Formats: sequence, C-alpha cells, structure tokens
Amino acid sequence: MQYLFAPIEPIGLAIAGSALQLPVHRVFCVGRNYPEHAREMGADPDDQPLCFFSKPPEAIVPGDAPLAYPPATADLHHEVEMVVALGDTLRGGARNIAAGEALEAVFGYAVGVDLTRRDLQAEAKRRRWPWDTAKAFTASAPCSALLPAARIGHPTQARIWLAVNDEIRQDGDIADMACGVAGLIERLSALFTLQPGDLIFTGTPAGVGPLRRGDRVSGGVDGIATLDFAVI
Ligand code: MN
Repeated sequence: MQYLFAPIEPIGLAIAGSALQLPVHRVFCVGRNYPEHAREMGADPDDQPLCFFSKPPEAIVPGDAPLAYPPATADLHHEVEMVVALGDTLRGGARNIAAGEALEAVFGYAVGVDLTRRDLQAEAKRRRWPWDTAKAFTASAPCSALLPAARIGHPTQARIWLAVNDEIRQDGDIADMACGVAGLIERLSALFTLQPGDLIFTGTPAGVGPLRRGDRVSGGVDGIATLDFAVI
C-alpha cells in the first residue's frame, strides 16, 4: 500500500519493565461509574445509567509531560481515572465479549486524567449537543506508563486519588465503581469492535474541580501507577 502521505504514527504508552510501548488505538471513556461523582454532577446514579463517550488517540499525553492549558475554556476540570489497556489477544477485533472472558483481553493498567472543559460540557448538556468539544480535544488525557496484568493481576480494590499543588482533591477507591472492568468490556464490546491498543478510562470518583496555569497535578492508583505533571 502506498499512501498519499505518511500515516500519523500512533501515540505510544510506556510499559513498566519493558522497552516496548503500547500503540494507542481508540480511547473509550465511561461517565457516571462512581455514584458519588454522579451525585456531585447533579445526576441520580440510581436513575441515570452509565454513559460512554470517546476521545481521539491524540488526546493521550504520555508520562509526566507538561500539559498546555487548552484553548476555548475558562473551566478546565480534572477527573482522575484508572485506565485499562487492551492487548494483542483482540487482534482482528472482537465484539460481544462475555464478562467471564473479558479480563483475558486486558494487557495492563495505568492512571490517567480525563480533562474536561466543564463550561462547554454544561452548554452541551443544556443544548443536547454532543460532548466532543468538552471531552475530545487534543492533549485532554494525560496517562501514566502501563503496569502489565501479568505482573499485578486484575485489581478490584485500590485507592485512587488526585492532588493539586499537594492538596488532595479526589480520594476514592476503585472498589466503588458501579461497573467493574469485566463488565465495562462486556458492555463496550456490545457497542463497538474492540481492538488491541484500545484504552478505557473507567470513570472518576467525587471531588472533580478546576485547574489553572501553574498548577502541579499529581495522582495515582495505589499499587498501579502515579502521574505528576505541570499545567503550563
Ligand atoms: Mn471522566
């Protein structure tokens, strides 16, 4: 195949203990997966089910690279999330994966931040517009290196936290997710063909809030990864 121009290289995520990188394919995100966060956003978690949306691969900012404050917002919010990376067992694409087999598709875990232009999201909700301008902008998802499931298994309980300038803003536990990783893969694979390199941002605990230029953001999922970046 000869292309008109060289295809854009995939963004790579580092893998702990390996020289290889995971090439990022699609970035799926889950909304309202922690009931306390659903409540702080004014939703009733018993009444409003999970929602799914996505970001482009170029949303991913690997490692601890400085984060340029994005244009077109005056209310950029942090949402710390455990990130699931799908691996090579899905080569060729997979649909309708049963929860019981879903964890076999997981290559590893990371921590990321689903950056959100909250002002544009509020407008989109009000006007019943899509969320792309609020969620799917370039460099909207800083993400740590991956820790392979082969090393740590599949964690179901771990502190997830985020601090801004050393002040804790979000402090939860992945055990509080309404839908666990296997269930998320089952549900996503009923909607989309999943591929190796797909990432799933699994939702955020309560405590989301604004970021400003000059802030230092740190976060982690204990036992998996940490992230530390400056907003410039
Ligand atoms: Mn989120």
